[in-house]
Amino acid sequence: MGTRPLLNRRLQGLGTTIFAEMSALATATGSINLGQGFPDTDGPREIAEAAARAVLTGQGNQYPPGPGIPELRQAVAEHQLRFHGLGHDPDTEVLVTAGATEAIAAALLALLEPGDEVIALEPFYDSYAACIAMAGAVRVPLTLRAPAFRPDLDELRSLITPRTRLLLLNTPHNPTGTVLTPEELAGIAALAVEHDLLVVADEVYEHLVFSGVHHPIAALPGMRERTVSISSAGKTFSFTGWKVGWVTASAPLVAAVRTAKQYLTYVSAGPFQYAVAEALRLPDEYFAAFRADLLRKRDLLADGLDAAGFQVFRPEGTYFITTDITPLGEKDGLEFCRSLPARCGVVAIPNVVFYDNTDAGRSLVRFTFCKRDDVLTEAVARLRRL
Ligand SMILES: *Cc1c(COP(=O)(O)O)cnc(C)c1O
Repeated sequence: MGTRPLLNRRLQGLGTTIFAEMSALATATGSINLGQGFPDTDGPREIAEAAARAVLTGQGNQYPPGPGIPELRQAVAEHQLRFHGLGHDPDTEVLVTAGATEAIAAALLALLEPGDEVIALEPFYDSYAACIAMAGAVRVPLTLRAPAFRPDLDELRSLITPRTRLLLLNTPHNPTGTVLTPEELAGIAALAVEHDLLVVADEVYEHLVFSGVHHPIAALPGMRERTVSISSAGKTFSFTGWKVGWVTASAPLVAAVRTAKQYLTYVSAGPFQYAVAEALRLPDEYFAAFRADLLRKRDLLADGLDAAGFQVFRPEGTYFITTDITPLGEKDGLEFCRSLPARCGVVAIPNVVFYDNTDAGRSLVRFTFCKRDDVLTEAVARLRRL
């Protein structure tokens, strides 16, 4: 085979995701997995029944339309209006994707030229670095630093160069739990307009904001024509395996993202699209109860981690808690997470893997709280033995 590496240069260093390593460790050691963020309780029964009904009645069992079924595009448009006051034409301004993951990939592949710079909030969600690399672009981190994890807008301004093409935002932010404030979003939007930048906004935790509400940057002046907003049914309805996501944006941006998307999966999740259309129309009580439930779980785990000696950064949103292990006499989050299953039967994720500036994340460790109360209680009891 010669000496040329099989994996191309763009993907070198990306390896396997930390979730594969840590979830395998959880299985091998029988540990409680508070690493990967998936709920251990499925979403609403009536939505699962809608999916089953769709399969059995032949809705979506063959290739659905490329942009997504009209019922779901209509439901997404209604959702954006109902929760965010944003109007969209379901035919030209909504695109259904294979989860938010495909939406992110398609947006970056469609909008970036090789060599373009992308400024992204660091720590990064794990697919960002890979998708930026696959697009041949260059990632530039805007580091959210402990303990506040706020973006520094002067620093953002200093990172913008003539090669900057796109800002990749994630609010509510995984893994820090930061929810960008209207003032921060206004500052970011002003820079995007001033420098004519595109914005990709990953908003998959839009319904998990524990005080106040999520603010979409697309709603700000001058942002509608330059923002690709991305969300997904996985987190909001606790069906992460269904992989139904969507893009909302202006018609030209949706057309660009659709061009890339049609050659990635073309289409996916036919019957699940019908079920998600129903889910998006659930009454306000569903969304309020979902948030209240996760808020209670947040406090259950945060109080437990605090009692176990971690420094806890209580998140404003998402279903993750970032902690600092320094008070436990530990320094290295990666080493800590690799030894944790053997020491006390719990799996967590070392935040350092989400950083380019590894010093900023070395001692940080992430736990998810989207698990049953008895699982969280047992995990906390185990962690207190540390
Ligand atoms: C879970 C997650 C995604 C992926 O969403 P899918 O719909 O499962 O593809 C994207 N971004 C963030 C920040 C996430 O936490």
